[in-house]
Amino acid sequence: MTMITNHMPTAELQALDAAHHIHPFSKNGEFETTGARVITRADGVTLTDSEGVELLDAMGGLWCVNIGYGRHELADVAARQMRELPYYNSFFKTTHVPVIALSKRLAELAPGDLNHVFYASSGSEANDTNIRMVRTYWAELGKPEKQIIISRKNAYHGSTLGAASLGGMTAMHAQGGLPLPDMHHIDQPNWWAEGGDSDPAEFGLERAQQLEKAILELGENRVAAFIAEPVQGAGGVIIPPETYWPEIQRICDKYEILLIADEVICGFGRTGNWFGSQTMGIRPDIMTIAKGLSSGYIPIGGSIVSDKVAEVIAGCEFNHGYTYSGHPVAAAVALENLRIMDEEGIITRVAEDTGPYLQEKWRALADHPLVGEAKIVGMMGSIAMTPDKSTRAAFAEPGTAGLICRDRCFANGLIMRHVGDRMIISPPLVLEKSDIDTLIERATKSLDETYARLKADGVI
Ligand SMILES: *Cc1c(COP(=O)(O)O)cnc(C)c1O
Repeated sequence: MTMITNHMPTAELQALDAAHHIHPFSKNGEFETTGARVITRADGVTLTDSEGVELLDAMGGLWCVNIGYGRHELADVAARQMRELPYYNSFFKTTHVPVIALSKRLAELAPGDLNHVFYASSGSEANDTNIRMVRTYWAELGKPEKQIIISRKNAYHGSTLGAASLGGMTAMHAQGGLPLPDMHHIDQPNWWAEGGDSDPAEFGLERAQQLEKAILELGENRVAAFIAEPVQGAGGVIIPPETYWPEIQRICDKYEILLIADEVICGFGRTGNWFGSQTMGIRPDIMTIAKGLSSGYIPIGGSIVSDKVAEVIAGCEFNHGYTYSGHPVAAAVALENLRIMDEEGIITRVAEDTGPYLQEKWRALADHPLVGEAKIVGMMGSIAMTPDKSTRAAFAEPGTAGLICRDRCFANGLIMRHVGDRMIISPPLVLEKSDIDTLIERATKSLDETYARLKADGVI
């Protein structure tokens, strides 16, 4: 039996990590001098590192541990499924019980006529599926020139070539010759950073109407789909003005452009409903899912597809699939995760109990001298730090405050991520009120220390 030991000294683990492990989204050379933090255990909302330090995980891992850590039911289901049927594919006129049960459950939970699921092992892969699916849809309808997918700057849709092309992260496009052809990016509805003197409602409309302009410029006959996160996550938890989504929906309807809602973060309770599309009042043709689908316990993602799209795709041989599409162990674990979310009323708590409690305390952070806006929907929130609240000014060197604050949070036992000078949270949805008090207390202390440091450094 392979032994995975937690009992080596931390420095030794860090040296081995630096020598042999390439970290995602990291400058790996840095690990030689400052070793990575070794996380050894987790329970509920708390992580423990190899030195025994405990951290409140306000990021839910990477936006995914919705039911919290340490739910042994998921481990038991995985072990049982591995013994019974550890693997089989569904390529060649075969299927299995876990994938059937999960698909039925997702069709029940998904709004409208989103009744069909194509599986992947991640959100990135699912978005690659979506690219091929929407283009195939139009080709099957005799419109193969409808190829262009419109997305948004500063969107995050994953890291494969296709998903990173859909995304609007310039630093990702700069590596490896992206985006792929026939991807077009419009501006994001980020009023705080880009709204200037406009009123947020007006600004939301203007940003949505960029979609219509793009469709007309590129040619209605060439545009296949629009993709967006209901609330941008990795871009900094950007909650759009209320005018934004209704206008986007109107435009997609008018030009019959397929709407893909990337629900990888917003799905499975994050915004207080099963899906962010319900919170934002939109009717997507396809939803991308991953992360909270299994609460991160095992890799699984997918695309939930409408009757309209599925019927067309069913008419051709769709030459696409992954060895692990609908993996039985992943499907069984996801199903158990959904059962727990449902039976324990976790989403109702986000909507009606702990969610509003967190929201009230989070919004009050806007009173801090360093904080401009503090926004939150369900249990995903962001604060924008600024040297001048009245003008919504940016720091001379973007990311200065963010990096300091992130490090202060770590020192104060809180994992909160920074995107530039925005601090963001996406905690496990099972956070108790006492955890919320601790989160806010540690965040406030970290903001105070960041403020003091910026003053001492003469930045503000
Ligand atoms: C994380 C994320 C993805 C990519 O999912 P992976 O499982 O990391 O491939 C796609 N879309 C959104 C909105 C995400 O947050």
